[in-house]
Amino acid sequence: MATVKEFSVEEKLVSLLRLQKIDSKLDEIEILKGELPMEVKDLEDELEGLNTRLTNLGDEIKGIEAFISGKKEAIKDAEANIKKYEKQQDNVKNNREYEAISKEIEMQTLENKLNEKQIREANDKIKEKNNVYESAKKAIKDKEGNLKHKKAELEKIIVDTDKEEKQFEKESEKAGEEVEPRLLAAYEKIRKTYRNGLAVVSIERDSCGGCFNKIPPQRQAEIRQRKKIIVCEHCGRILVDFDLFNSVTAKK
Ligand SMILES: [Zn+2]
Repeated sequence: MATVKEFSVEEKLVSLLRLQKIDSKLDEIEILKGELPMEVKDLEDELEGLNTRLTNLGDEIKGIEAFISGKKEAIKDAEANIKKYEKQQDNVKNNREYEAISKEIEMQTLENKLNEKQIREANDKIKEKNNVYESAKKAIKDKEGNLKHKKAELEKIIVDTDKEEKQFEKESEKAGEEVEPRLLAAYEKIRKTYRNGLAVVSIERDSCGGCFNKIPPQRQAEIRQRKKIIVCEHCGRILVDFDLFNSVTAKK
């Protein structure tokens, strides 16, 4: 007759705890995996924002340049008008007409002075914007280098994390095989109930480490004896004493 090895409650709890520790590692990886792509995306967004700023700056400079060529055209037109008026002045019939044309010439001359002043100001503005543009371009170049480096770093972490996850998945399966099927089923059911995935918890400061309700001293003593599997009467999690909880790790 084949003998089936009977495990003590403590041994059962140790197998279960190891499974819990491994599964908690998997839960941690799941959270990290959610955060890493977000970090990469944040970096990409930052660079995109900087590039948009550079494009806008370039557009602003082009706008000022268009303004300047408009003003130059206006000066040419006014100069042509002045020439035309000067010719007309040679053929005027009376003083009044001469005065009227002189007024026109004076106005066009004044307008051109204003145009020239505006061109000078616009050129100053372009110089200023060009300086900002050049330093922004340099900042982007530096940042691009940094981001490339950081992105590669993050992608490597993602790859390593995937590798680690696969490893822990294998170990979780193996550890699960060592847990008594009925206990394993209970564990999986409790684990699914709670967002933090904790089905086995320790006593912490006289309370359940899962729901933080107080555990009576008598019950704490029973838990420490490790003779029975005891669940928290408030949250249903399996309770172990602090020392046992800390003696088991995900790594064998
Ligand atoms: Zn509890």
